[in-house]
Amino acid sequence: MKNMVIKTGLLLLLLVLFFRVYAQPERWQQHIKYNISVNLDVLSNRISGVEKMEYTNNSPDTLYKLYFHLYWNAFQPNSSMDERSRELGKNVFTNRRGEEVRDWDGRVTDRISKLTPNEIGYQKVVSIKVNGIEQKMRAYETILQVSLDKSLLPHSKTSIEIVFEAQVPIQVRRSGRDSKEGIRYSMSQWYPKMVEYDYQGWNANQYIAREFYGVWGDYDVNITIDKRYMVAATGLLQNANSIGYGFENAGIKTTVSKSNTLTWNFKGENIHDFVWAADPNYKHISKKVRNDLTLHVFYKAADATADSAWNNVLWAAEKALPFLERKYGKYPWPQYSFIQGGDGGMEYAMATLLRGPGIEGNAFHEWVHSWYQQLLGTNESLYPWMDEGFTQYADAELSAWYDSTFAPISPYISQVEKNNLKAKVEGAKNKLPINQSDSYVGYFNLAKSGMEEPLTTHADHYNTNYAYSNASYRKGAVFLKQLEYIVGKNSFDKILLAYYNEWKFKHPNPNDFIRVAEKVSGIELQWYKEYWINSTKTIDYAVGDINLVGGKTKITIKRLGYMPMPVEVLLKFKDGSEELHYIPLDLMFGEKIAEDDTIKRIVHKEWYWVNPEYEFETDRNIKDIKSIEIDPSQRMADVKRTNNKLVIPD
Ligand SMILES: [Zn+2]
Repeated sequence: MKNMVIKTGLLLLLLVLFFRVYAQPERWQQHIKYNISVNLDVLSNRISGVEKMEYTNNSPDTLYKLYFHLYWNAFQPNSSMDERSRELGKNVFTNRRGEEVRDWDGRVTDRISKLTPNEIGYQKVVSIKVNGIEQKMRAYETILQVSLDKSLLPHSKTSIEIVFEAQVPIQVRRSGRDSKEGIRYSMSQWYPKMVEYDYQGWNANQYIAREFYGVWGDYDVNITIDKRYMVAATGLLQNANSIGYGFENAGIKTTVSKSNTLTWNFKGENIHDFVWAADPNYKHISKKVRNDLTLHVFYKAADATADSAWNNVLWAAEKALPFLERKYGKYPWPQYSFIQGGDGGMEYAMATLLRGPGIEGNAFHEWVHSWYQQLLGTNESLYPWMDEGFTQYADAELSAWYDSTFAPISPYISQVEKNNLKAKVEGAKNKLPINQSDSYVGYFNLAKSGMEEPLTTHADHYNTNYAYSNASYRKGAVFLKQLEYIVGKNSFDKILLAYYNEWKFKHPNPNDFIRVAEKVSGIELQWYKEYWINSTKTIDYAVGDINLVGGKTKITIKRLGYMPMPVEVLLKFKDGSEELHYIPLDLMFGEKIAEDDTIKRIVHKEWYWVNPEYEFETDRNIKDIKSIEIDPSQRMADVKRTNNKLVIPD
């Protein structure tokens, strides 16, 4: 007996150990503290800087090398970015309007190949010391490899010091000087940035087109520049009272600097990038929208119309915030700045660069990136659809809500714009699926194009920009709207909040998202990931035979596409009544709850995906039926909708 007790005890201990080892661990994150001092000479457009870092290796691995991004080296003739753009430009398509378009980014084209020595960008690391000792390094264009004299042990802290020099390129893509809109400096990707090391290893991606992934940490940045320039940046300005420019506290009189320069000090915590911009003619407006958050806008404007449009950005951002937080989680930082600069919109930590003051698809899109990029920090190279697609989705939801609530009462838009808005809101009511129809159209075109590649493709390695952008933005947005269809609205609304709560500041991957969706909805979703993310299989269902048997009607639905889905079929009857027939998919091992209580809903036995056909029955006579329609909400991305509806003639 005693022996038995010991054996049972041992077994229990082993079981406990087993589950401790195999329980899902919190995902570890590297950590970094940057302390950077840079000097920008506005005559030569060159910067020199010292970058001190404290790097904590929280991984279980010993690191023998370090990697840094040197993004600006991309802006040189024959760089990988240049070669790639010119290669893609050789692909010529005919668009829907019958125009010939090239597959390169219209902002990049062959511009890099034409940069003169004064216009190119570069970043040179003059020296790198690790724990005070000079290290060997080698630059592979936009990636610097450092071979360590002494490896970094797991859970150790290391101090790193880099001395660097750089030339600000003419603005081609994102960062640079003298943009088309006349912004002197758009300073993104401006410092040697530590490459993220994660559970998949070093993410040393050359800068070809996409660039976002970084180490969470704290930034303390000193920027010395000609004192006539106003600086807008990530983080909180620390020395406002000595800077002036209206940043100083009320009642403080700043003393005029005797030197020609000013040093601006910004600090930002728990972020993975740092952007700044500078111009002698920036205008600045801001609003403290709550105790712990101030919104800023920095822009150049020649007239009152432009002033009004930029004021509208500030106004709209404040109105959007409660919607965003209610739907997608709390904004945690004390500041956010909309800064005119760069090309188009590009999101950074606590700030974005915007070309102009557009709201939807622009200011809103970048504002949303605070969630689906800065907060969640998905690896943009590997899972661009999780930041661009989710952002596209949330921007469309936000915009539709804003158009029907606050936009009509904005004091900063004209009566003409307000009238256009009315027509837009009315038009949107007829477009299915609600709020996301544009993304569906983009995805359908992609699916038909013959150029589609699975969403697992690395962002820089899609064969075409066309496939990259439609997959990442549109198919990524459809992923969410279609998920709403699968799990039901009630679960879906909880999923995005649960995702935020569980994965903020942790670089989630697709599986992490799917696991959250499964836990919240109680529905198994691995199949959805396998088909929608890992394959290019498409959905096509069709109405098949209809037979009257003993006064009841039997209806057959056919699965013509390779991707299986749960199916909803709406029956409309001649007496005006309706029935929604719901057929869950066996792979779900569950079903969604009713989304609309006002319609009679009949839940059928699940459809086993291996069967190409499914038959169900309604108690009503075939004579009573007016129409049969698969997926009436149109949230299922059925690539051929013409066979979805059957109208029975009288
Ligand atoms: Zn975006």
